[in-house]
Amino acid sequence: MRILLTNDDGIHAPGLDVLERIARQFSDDIWIVAPAEEQSGAGHSLTLSRPVRLREHGPRRFSVSGTPTDAVMMALRTVMPGAPDLLLSGVNRGANLGDDVTYSGTVSAAIEGSLAGIRSIALSQVYAKEGMGDTVPFGAAEAWGARVIEPLLGAPFAPRTLVNVNFPALEPGAVRGIRVVRQGFHDYARGSVVEGTDPRGYRYFWFGLHGIEHTPGHATDLEAIQDGYVSVTPLQLELTHDASLAALAGRFA
Ligand code: MN
Repeated sequence: MRILLTNDDGIHAPGLDVLERIARQFSDDIWIVAPAEEQSGAGHSLTLSRPVRLREHGPRRFSVSGTPTDAVMMALRTVMPGAPDLLLSGVNRGANLGDDVTYSGTVSAAIEGSLAGIRSIALSQVYAKEGMGDTVPFGAAEAWGARVIEPLLGAPFAPRTLVNVNFPALEPGAVRGIRVVRQGFHDYARGSVVEGTDPRGYRYFWFGLHGIEHTPGHATDLEAIQDGYVSVTPLQLELTHDASLAALAGRFA
């Protein structure tokens, strides 16, 4: 089995090392193509206004000077000798739950894989406290990663679908199990905007993510994580709201 790994936190992200250890439990045919720099929040963006550079860091290990989507495209079209059987994106430093998935470079890399017809799984490690930086613990992902991936290898993946996995902010032994749940939604209180002055005296703004509230709907990814489970959510790219089709068509009749 040939596996492509990527990570929107960049080629040097600790979560990518965690993911590589997980993936090597399934195969030695591992290819890594990841953004050169952190791309969290890049969503499904594609670099069109400047060239991207490809750099080889070692055997089957490359960085791309662009977005997570750029990295997957480069992997599939330029770097790899053939299509992978599996794409794993992560393990992201931080949650990708509810409606945050459209901001997510981690989920978007898996979206790009699913568009190419590849079985694609996004994996994210939730953490408890703000400001942990490089000290975010990946213990739950490390211990539960293979356990959640293995059953997904033979599972049916419909065209243009992917699976989004989140690991709770718990010690591995405290994780209560794995739940397959639907995507939840945050309340729209979009974090915070921190204002400051840079060393040259110019005002800047910086988006913070703390303080995002949610009311967990029943059987959602948000609820599963809050209850201490690994969440597994199948996502689809088809965003059409079927129930509105007829009502809108009537407006244009
Ligand atoms: Mn990230």
